[in-house]
Amino acid sequence: MNERHAGAPGLVKEVTSLANPLVKDIKALAQKKFRDQQNAFMAEGLKLVIDALDLGWQIRTLVFAKAGRGNAAVEKVAARTVAAGGTVLEVSEKVLVAITRRDNPQMVVGVFSQRFLPLKDVRADNGDVWVALDRVRDPGNLGTVIRTIDAVGAKGVILVGDTTDPFSVETVRATMGSIFAVPVARATTEAFLAWRGGFSGLVAGTHLKGAVDYRSVDFSRGPVLLMMGNEQQGLPESLAASCDRLLRIPQAGRADSLNLAVATGVMLFEIRRGALKLEPVV
Ligand code: SAM
Repeated sequence: MNERHAGAPGLVKEVTSLANPLVKDIKALAQKKFRDQQNAFMAEGLKLVIDALDLGWQIRTLVFAKAGRGNAAVEKVAARTVAAGGTVLEVSEKVLVAITRRDNPQMVVGVFSQRFLPLKDVRADNGDVWVALDRVRDPGNLGTVIRTIDAVGAKGVILVGDTTDPFSVETVRATMGSIFAVPVARATTEAFLAWRGGFSGLVAGTHLKGAVDYRSVDFSRGPVLLMMGNEQQGLPESLAASCDRLLRIPQAGRADSLNLAVATGVMLFEIRRGALKLEPVV
């Protein structure tokens, strides 16, 4: 490994070898086992990394392509990384391709510490909306739901049971940066049901056998917990029975059901209807 002392960014390590141990550790973050071991994950793109730093996420390593040398925004992020106690790596295109497993990688990758909100700290005031996802399997669905939660101004997501990893590369990509803005809690079904007992607002489940049209419900009183079922099996009996209402989105045509992320989007925009205003475009 070569090292060079750069002006603004502080100490920057130049890395061109795939055998470099730091590079090996970052590459390993593609696998859940190593993400869990390191309690870390990676996010791609300069804007995402800047947003994450602005939101107070702890950066461990900033990786940038040689082409980023001299780029003022990259150098500023590098300086912030060093100030936060992180490591900065300037790498060859080959290394960046290997880390991101992409032919045309972003110029910047950040490695951050994972962060889960403890379930006991999930509290809901009037107007707050939380989403509980039962055993969500698909990373694209989870990422899209997190992005939509962010877009409608809901408070966060609770992952119930055995779910796909919110910090996988696929999920983080699908969130388009919202992973840094949306608190994620997780719980076993039993722990979730115990917590639900203390939830004072409306618990609205969605179910293909729901008897109530989702458009007929007044969501404006108190907090709302929206509960969504697993992609294959829907909500199990134990979770469905814990809902105050089981709602259905009417459908026409031959499709049995909506995609989980689409159904969550439909519900969230209805629940948040009164809170969302079209701002003039500037
Ligand atoms: N075969 C599954 C079942 O029987 O429930 C289909 C699950 S669907 C792909 C995933 C989740 O999206 C459902 O559990 C439910 O939460 C929601 N969903 C999809 N379409 C819906 C609809 N028309 N009405 C209410 N919820 C719906």
